[in-house]
Amino acid sequence: CGLSGILAGIRLSQAGLPFTILDKNAGPGGTWWENRYPGARVDVGSHQYCYSFEPSDHWSEYYCQHSELRDYFIRVVDKYGLREHCRFETTITAVTWDDEQGRWHVEVEGPDGTSEVIDARFVVSAVGSLNLPRMPDIEGMDTFDGPSFHSARWPEDLDISDTRFALIGAGASGFQIAPTIAGEVEHLTIFQRTAQWVLPNPIYHAKVPDGETWAMRHLPFYGRWLRFMMTQPGLGSGVESFRIDPDHVDPHNQSVNAANAASRDLLLDWMHEQLADRPDLIEKVVPDYPAMGKRVLQDNGSWFQCLKRPNVELVRTGIDRIVPEGIVTVDGTLYSVDAICYATGFRHNEFVAFDMTGRGGVSLHGQWGDEPSAYLGITVPNFPNLFLCYGPGTNLAHSAGLFFHAEYQTMHAMDAIHRVLTSGARAIEVRQDVHDRYTDELVRQISSLVWAHPTIQHSHYKNPDGKVY
Ligand code: NAP
Repeated sequence: CGLSGILAGIRLSQAGLPFTILDKNAGPGGTWWENRYPGARVDVGSHQYCYSFEPSDHWSEYYCQHSELRDYFIRVVDKYGLREHCRFETTITAVTWDDEQGRWHVEVEGPDGTSEVIDARFVVSAVGSLNLPRMPDIEGMDTFDGPSFHSARWPEDLDISDTRFALIGAGASGFQIAPTIAGEVEHLTIFQRTAQWVLPNPIYHAKVPDGETWAMRHLPFYGRWLRFMMTQPGLGSGVESFRIDPDHVDPHNQSVNAANAASRDLLLDWMHEQLADRPDLIEKVVPDYPAMGKRVLQDNGSWFQCLKRPNVELVRTGIDRIVPEGIVTVDGTLYSVDAICYATGFRHNEFVAFDMTGRGGVSLHGQWGDEPSAYLGITVPNFPNLFLCYGPGTNLAHSAGLFFHAEYQTMHAMDAIHRVLTSGARAIEVRQDVHDRYTDELVRQISSLVWAHPTIQHSHYKNPDGKVY
C-alpha cells in the first residue's frame, strides 16, 4: 500500500475488479510510512511527486516532509474507498503459482500471527525497492552498548539531546539526518564511505508562497504547466548528457563527456563557495568519480553548514569494527559514541521482498541471482499474471519521478489484465525471447551511461559484481 499499490488499487477499483491490498505496515504510504527519521523529506519536487490525476496544489513546501506525504497517501486511500480493500499488518511469506488452477496462492501472516492462503488470479507486486533495510556487516555490531538502528527504523521515543551520535552512511537519508540533528546532539560523527555529488537547490527547504498556491488553484493550467516543466526536460534529451563519450579526454577519468565535465565544474564551484573557509573539508567532500554517477543529492547549503559546525566531524576513513563504547576506524582511532544510526540504504536488488515461485517450481530470486530483470521492468518469464511495479531496471537516476513511472507500469498491467479477461485466456506471460531482447538492449544502453563508470565502486544501481541492473 505504498505509492504503486495505492495506484493499482485505484485502477482495479475503477475497472470494477475485486482486489485486496496486503501491507506489512499499519497504514498506507510504504516507504513514507516507514521512514520517519529527523529531516526525512522528498528530494524530487513535490508538485510532480504525486499522482497526475490528483490535485497538486496543496503542498506546503516544494520538497515536502515525510508526515505531509503520509497524510497525502491516507487522504488518497480514503478518497478512493481503498481502505475496505486493505489488510494492514499482514506480511506476505510466500507466493506460489498453481499451474493446474492457473492461480496464485498468496501465503500471509496476519496481525495476530495466524497464517492464511489467499487465492488470486493476478498479482501486482508493489513492494518497491526501498523496503528491506540493508544493515552493513561490520565486526562487533552486536556488542555496541547504546541504541543502534537503521534510518528506516528510527525509534519514535529516542532522545538524542546531549548524546554523542554516530551516523554511518551519508547517502540520501544520512544527508537529511545530519543537518537536522546536528543542533540537538552534543557531538555528531558522520562516517561517509564515498563522497557524494551535491546539487545546489536554494528552495530545498522553502515553503511554497501563498501566491503560488493561489496561482495553482486559480490560474488555468498553471499547476499542470508547472508539473510538465518539472517532468519533461529530463525525459526528452536527458539521457544523452549521461552517455560515456569514447572520444572525451579527461586525464583524471572523472568525467564522461563535455557536458558532464561542465556539470562537474558547476558542482565543484558550489562546494568551493560553501567551504571557502575550510580547505580541509574540501579535500574530504570532493568525489573521485564523474558527476551524476551516483544519485545526486540536493542541498540548499545546510549540508555544508552542518559539516562546518564545531560539534560535527566528517570521517572518511573506513570502519574497522564496532566495540561496546563506539566505532574503531581502520587507522585504529576509537570514536566513542552513545548511539549509532545506520543510514546504509536498502537491499535494492531483491525487488520482491518475499519468496515467489513461478511455473514449474522456478524461484524468482533463484532465476534472477544478482542480475534481476523484467520486460519493461514489469513482467518476468515463468511468472504468469504477475506484474512488478518499480521492478528491475526502473530505478530512477534522473528526471521524472516514481509516480510517473508507476502510472505507466500500472497502465501496462491493467492493459494485460484486460486482455486476459476479455480473450478467455487463462494467463499472460512475457515470452523468454522478448524479455531477453529487451534485457540485452537495456544492459547495452546502461553500460554506455555514467552510472556504469568503473570509478564508481559502491552504488545502489550496481549489483555486487559492479554491474548496473
Ligand atoms: P544510499 O543512498 O544507498 O546510501 C547509503 C549510504 O550508506 C552510503 O553513504 C553508503 O556508502 C553507506 N554505506 C552502505 N553500506 C556501508 C558499509 N558497509 N560501510 C560504510 N558505509 C556504508 O541509501 P539511502 O540514503 O537510504 O537512500 C536510498 C534510496 O532511498 C535513495 O537512493 C533514494 O532512492 C531513496 N531516498 C529518497 C529520499 C528522498 O526522496 N528524499 C530520501 C532518502 C532516501 P557508499 O556510497 O560508499 O555506498
